[in-house]
Amino acid sequence: MTIASINPATAETLREFSALSAQQIEQKLQIAADTFRSYRLTSFADRSRMMQRAAEILESEKQEFGRTMTIEMGKPLTAAIGEAEKCASVCRYYAENAKHHLADQLVETNAKKSYVHFQPLGPVLAVMPWNFPFWQVFRFAAPALMAGNVGLLKHASNVPQCALAIEEIFARAGFPEGAFQTLLVGSDAVEEILKDPRVVAATLTGSEPAGRSVAGISGKEIKKTVLELGGSDPFIVMPSADFDTAVTTAVRARTINNGQSCIAAKRFIVAKEIYERFEERFVAEMRALRIGDPMDELTDIGPLATPQILDDLIEQVEKAVGSGARILTGGKKLDRPGSFYEPTVLVNIDPSTPVSCEEIFGPVAMLFRVANIDEAIRLANATPFGLGSAAWTSDANEQTKFIEELEAGCVFINGMVASDPRLPFGGVKHSGYGRELAEFGIREFVNIKTVWIGSETQARGIRTDQE
Ligand code: NAP
Repeated sequence: MTIASINPATAETLREFSALSAQQIEQKLQIAADTFRSYRLTSFADRSRMMQRAAEILESEKQEFGRTMTIEMGKPLTAAIGEAEKCASVCRYYAENAKHHLADQLVETNAKKSYVHFQPLGPVLAVMPWNFPFWQVFRFAAPALMAGNVGLLKHASNVPQCALAIEEIFARAGFPEGAFQTLLVGSDAVEEILKDPRVVAATLTGSEPAGRSVAGISGKEIKKTVLELGGSDPFIVMPSADFDTAVTTAVRARTINNGQSCIAAKRFIVAKEIYERFEERFVAEMRALRIGDPMDELTDIGPLATPQILDDLIEQVEKAVGSGARILTGGKKLDRPGSFYEPTVLVNIDPSTPVSCEEIFGPVAMLFRVANIDEAIRLANATPFGLGSAAWTSDANEQTKFIEELEAGCVFINGMVASDPRLPFGGVKHSGYGRELAEFGIREFVNIKTVWIGSETQARGIRTDQE
């Protein structure tokens, strides 16, 4: 894939970039390794000052960063500006909390003193997607840098200007050269970088095939990985739900980021008692969405990020229709330049067909009618993915059942799935493993070192066969 900024709203190529040569990659890896040796010794106070500065830059220039995101991947500008603000919040969160999350933990044992001590690992490779081109990177980088690691970013090939802007933010915030570097490379360069002994771990946010590849290579190299992969999140609505809020949230949850979010609600599972009403309102609200220029603040839905994503979506909808699904609204690309696709609602989907549980990356919703909570949970779990899930009910017993039985990394009751720096984020099943955000995220890329200090009397008593 060429590394280029192509405006998905106009199909215009804005800038092309050459991939780094092997020699340039080598230099950057060496700088990362050299910087890590001194950066790991910096204090939390120093790192925190730089991270707060990064937050200030993000906030004061959020309009500009928002524009960079929108012209490269097409999300509505207002949402892109909001994304820059959210990145500032994760920088602040870790600037304020990293020291506490990584403080030594005393543990009572037979030792004179024993405790858990957290140390950084080294240069970590981050392979990142285009859909939240700033947020995905910052939610890795803020904890990684606060923990004393250094970061190497291989961003998606269609968002190189975002990748370079992020590198510049960390440099301007005062982080030393080599603490955070962007590697402008295609995915074909990832294997060699992962195999390099100077790279100690990797995180990938992206599709299942990319995750399998990075995990496979890292596994052979015995390097730690975190994988944040795709999802086919259920959004369940029960008869006792606050109906109006549930419908409006359902539409937003499906179409956020032009429908291209891993945690977008993708399958709407509705109790039979309220199904007809839900379908009617949901279709009406999907139809009312304004689709168009993402720079216009009245636009709800902009273009899909690339022509390939548009083609994949068209194919998925055709397959669904081929296996019996019915289109209630939408179902066509727009006849204009750029990769626009109408907000679409599908019903009558055969739950035994692959499309019923695949990830659909675009503004296409699937509606299912169920007889009761058991059927709702069975259908919700009938997917290889397990990222987010949402259930709407005011019945306390039903809430408990959903919390216990939905197979997902998170369950939101009467709300829309969203990430928050204070809460862990990640999936189960084919949605990946490991967690980002909160204290769980910052502890993924550290050496959790056990320290055991005995008294001299104990040392004399230690037998040689003890493990
Ligand atoms: P993608 O095609 O997997 O690309 C993601 C990143 O991986 C890009 O940097 C890409 O580089 C690279 N890549 C692709 N194939 C690779 C391979 N075989 N080896 C190494 N690197 C490889 O995914 P995408 O289309 O950009 O993003 C959409 C996917 O990401 C969806 O499935 C979505 O659900 C998932 N996602 C998950 C989360 C989460 O938190 N769980 C968040 C956001 C998105 P190139 O661009 O150079 O190909």
